[in-house]
Amino acid sequence: MTEFSDTRVNDLCKTFDGAPQGWAPDTMTTVDFIEETRTVSEGELAIKAITPRRVPRFYEDHIRASNYYDKLKLIIEPSVLELDAKGMLDTSGEAENTVVPGLQHKYPQTGLMLVTEQCAAFCRYCFRKRFVGTSQDEVAVDYSRVADYIHHHPEMSNVLMSGGDPFMLKSRVLHEILDHLLPIPHLTSIRMGTKTVTFNPLRLRDEKLKDVFRRIVDAGKSAVIVTHFDHFAEISDEAQTQIAELRHIGVQFLNQGVLLKGVNDDEETLTRTFAELHAIGLRPYYLFQTRPVLGASRFQVPLREGVELVRAAQRNLSGIQKTFRYVMSHVTGKIEIVGFDAGTDRLVMRYHQAKDPGKTGQVFTRPCSANAMWLDDLQWT
Ligand code: SF4
Repeated sequence: MTEFSDTRVNDLCKTFDGAPQGWAPDTMTTVDFIEETRTVSEGELAIKAITPRRVPRFYEDHIRASNYYDKLKLIIEPSVLELDAKGMLDTSGEAENTVVPGLQHKYPQTGLMLVTEQCAAFCRYCFRKRFVGTSQDEVAVDYSRVADYIHHHPEMSNVLMSGGDPFMLKSRVLHEILDHLLPIPHLTSIRMGTKTVTFNPLRLRDEKLKDVFRRIVDAGKSAVIVTHFDHFAEISDEAQTQIAELRHIGVQFLNQGVLLKGVNDDEETLTRTFAELHAIGLRPYYLFQTRPVLGASRFQVPLREGVELVRAAQRNLSGIQKTFRYVMSHVTGKIEIVGFDAGTDRLVMRYHQAKDPGKTGQVFTRPCSANAMWLDDLQWT
């Protein structure tokens, strides 16, 4: 474990936005890591953005009752490996894409609104761990200001509410956000990205939450929920019931997941996950390469291995089941990992969305070693 002097701790914490209010860097605390219990300073936990263990009873009971607890527990149990301080806190360049507090505008058509820092549980590979569960600094609070920016950007056709998890907000607050977004004529779609359907689908029983989506549909806009299932065993009966009810209202469902070493990095699991998502009405959308997030390297699958796994799963799936793209959400854009050309020993990629719109659709290749995990690991030749 890396040792930090008090001075070092204080210096680092001054620059770490995710440090909780009122925290005491010298205070020692006991943490139940998945491997062992350790005493760690609060300063080290803050510097390394190690969120506490938070798991709703529903998810805990569900995964314990499944035959896959040993895999699924990796998603939510803190590990001593998070003390390994390699990685970044903003892997997609979110700070530089923020145009007003809480609103990012990276791709012309899409506004990304961070509406809360809270989540039902803390995923150990979270790419927003720099603020999730700790800081509201990046969260939108002035909805008028956000709406004003969108009003002046007619190229923006859709808003994605994210966080944190929008379903952690009171339904009343979601309605308040809609009060600002629905009158904007060029917004044709409102999307919410959530893992609450996985972690605690009981939340979706709230009729006031369902009313949020009724309002979007009644306003003539597309209402979209992007769920986050990483493994077929996360799908619960309650989730299926709630998805069916929301689909009846007119909500479109997509699913995005992350390729996670030790959790879903085998052909059978990937195949079954995409097939079962399709079967319950969730269109497979993105499979993300695990980002080089601080303390999350244990989840990264090498790109060449990922390509082979995805290709194997795709061979087993029908066209309507394999509607997903295997992507890296990079600072420069959303990069589809298309395949590996064994003849030239190069990874083939394509900008699905690019920060520089001129690059969208551009195909490019890079030499790819067996251990490369991210675009930045590939040589620019
Ligand atoms: S649900 Fe999303 S935002 Fe929340 S902890 Fe998991 S990955 Fe992070």
